[in-house]
Amino acid sequence: MTEPETLRAEREQVGELGREMLAQGLTRGTGGNVSVRSDDHVAISPSGVPYEEVTHETVPVVDLDGERIRGELKPSNETPMHTILYRERDDVGGIVHTHSPYASTFASLNEPIPASHYLIAYAGTEIPVAGYEPPGTEALGELAAEAMGADCDAVLLKNHGVMAVGATGADALEVAQMVEYCARIHYQAINVGEPELLPESEVRKLREMFSETYGQQ
Ligand code: 13P
Ligand code: ZN
Repeated sequence: MTEPETLRAEREQVGELGREMLAQGLTRGTGGNVSVRSDDHVAISPSGVPYEEVTHETVPVVDLDGERIRGELKPSNETPMHTILYRERDDVGGIVHTHSPYASTFASLNEPIPASHYLIAYAGTEIPVAGYEPPGTEALGELAAEAMGADCDAVLLKNHGVMAVGATGADALEVAQMVEYCARIHYQAINVGEPELLPESEVRKLREMFSETYGQQ
């Protein structure tokens, strides 16, 4: 078990990822939230605090049941959704929740984002939509975990936004960026014509390529 004191780097990273998410236009104001796991502890952004003001001291640490064990500030109201996803997925070390505009458009349409562009493979074969439940509820977390399943790394939250997961916080942010990019391409494609979607078998191969051979690995 990790001592909460050892989460200094993870707490620092939560602030950095939040600022990056904001700078990239993936959310507005204090919307969205970020967490980074270390074993059975999670550093998670404080609720409703501007990302510019998030320092490592202000980042709460919770256990996998969402109980605050360190930090003065109240953790994100989406803590139940983050902890449910960590409990369900051992492979997840970081989570980014955004309200990014193109992906949220499909979330409001209750339409998954299909494979219009090959980069969808970063996140899944398509990005499913979890049904609506109010923000901050366990019920929302349960729907998100169910829709995401074991193989997908992102899910749209109906009438709300995006949950993206990764082995690290940086990976989760990259998934969130890819989801927004693919949502934008798909939005543009359906507004101009009829996109030709990649077959699922091809996207599965691409997904393997990204996880096994792509880049410097
Ligand atoms: P928090 O500021 O409590 O993390 O809430 C923001 C949000 O996006 C809720 O869904
Ligand atoms: Zn939200």
